[in-house]
Amino acid sequence: VKVLVINSGSSSLKYQLIDVERHEVLRSGLCEKVGFFGSFIRYDTPAGEKTIEMPMPNHQEAIRLALESLDNPEDGVIASLDEVDAVGHRIVHGGEYFSEVAYVDESVIEKIEELIELAPLHNPAALMGIEACGILMPDKPQGAVFDTAFHQSMPAKNYIYPILIDFYKEQKIRKYGAHGTSHRYVSQRAIEMLGGDTSARIITCHLGNGGSITAIKDGKSYDTSMGFTPLDGVMMGSRCGSIDPAIVTFIMDHEGLSSDEMNNLMNRRSGLLGVTGISNDLREIDNAAQEGSEVARLAIDMYAQSIRKYIGQYIVELNGVDGIVMTAGIGENSAMMREHIFAELDNLGIKLDSEKNAVRSREARFINAEDSAVKIMVIPTQEEYMIAYDIKRMCEEHGLAQ
Ligand code: ADP
Repeated sequence: VKVLVINSGSSSLKYQLIDVERHEVLRSGLCEKVGFFGSFIRYDTPAGEKTIEMPMPNHQEAIRLALESLDNPEDGVIASLDEVDAVGHRIVHGGEYFSEVAYVDESVIEKIEELIELAPLHNPAALMGIEACGILMPDKPQGAVFDTAFHQSMPAKNYIYPILIDFYKEQKIRKYGAHGTSHRYVSQRAIEMLGGDTSARIITCHLGNGGSITAIKDGKSYDTSMGFTPLDGVMMGSRCGSIDPAIVTFIMDHEGLSSDEMNNLMNRRSGLLGVTGISNDLREIDNAAQEGSEVARLAIDMYAQSIRKYIGQYIVELNGVDGIVMTAGIGENSAMMREHIFAELDNLGIKLDSEKNAVRSREARFINAEDSAVKIMVIPTQEEYMIAYDIKRMCEEHGLAQ
């Protein structure tokens, strides 16, 4: 089964054609500046990356070019689009409607539309992607995989906020979480690595530009650090994570900021970038720290501490922990940050093996010391594969499998 996985942003579109049985990405590409001047498509070929500048006034044109990159005679990877069995869309917000993959029909589209209020930038882009695929490939089944779905298993005590309950009842203000597909994938792999024990207590740390931490109980999300929006939780590249909420109104009053300006400040100009003024990219902060920047060192310490606090919180919520997983850009690649995060936790039975931690690899692996009671794992996340598997299962359940 071959699934085209599409991740539509407001002005970009990432895609991968995945052969599910062979567990292989046949083509991976992206369209940038969709709807703007200077748009281009870029995709991997065996001979290296190929970039073609092309006008893309809308998502339909972007998807048309993406499809052309799959079956063109020059460097296509399939003979014809007939070989694509189904399309899977990654969608940011599924609200309380979706706890697993959904076969896209009119009612699903209506629900995604209804949820635009909760994801004003992301859900409209996803809808454009769905519409374009419907026009360009009307006979292919489409499925939707939601970033929030995995967290729908959280108990109410973990998703209701201590504000007037009417805000939840009337406006659905609650914790939704994010990165669900990634947390689901790495927690399933972790359970396999722990010998298939589905009752293992696991804490998954997805640390990329955005970051979130999830407590996994019986293979399900029990609590997660992102909240009503992805702004909550740990300190991130350019997002502040959780701060005293009174700071928000204080700054708005003092600086005369509108809610849009305040949102922008918290989402794009805070976190590692806000504290250092250097970058939102940990590699650059690390370089600056090595050159003696005090503020870069402070930001690294703050970042690690913010992760440690959530790990501590979730150890309490799970009444212990069997495995801790590190994934995404920072979790997979920064041995330095992992060293900081796991320093001096030996009284909790958590001990890193510094040599194993320093090894660079694309493989899922253990990095804990032999005598550590808790396993520490690095597991590269594979959200697109997870989506492709979900879509294959959806097709089987709907009698659409080849
Ligand atoms: P996104 O959330 O945009 O998908 P990624 O998962 O790609 O982000 O993570 C981006 C982060 O990963 C950046 O802060 C970057 O500095 C960090 N990162 C990537 N590679 C390395 C590396 N080799 N060492 C340290 N940090 C890294």
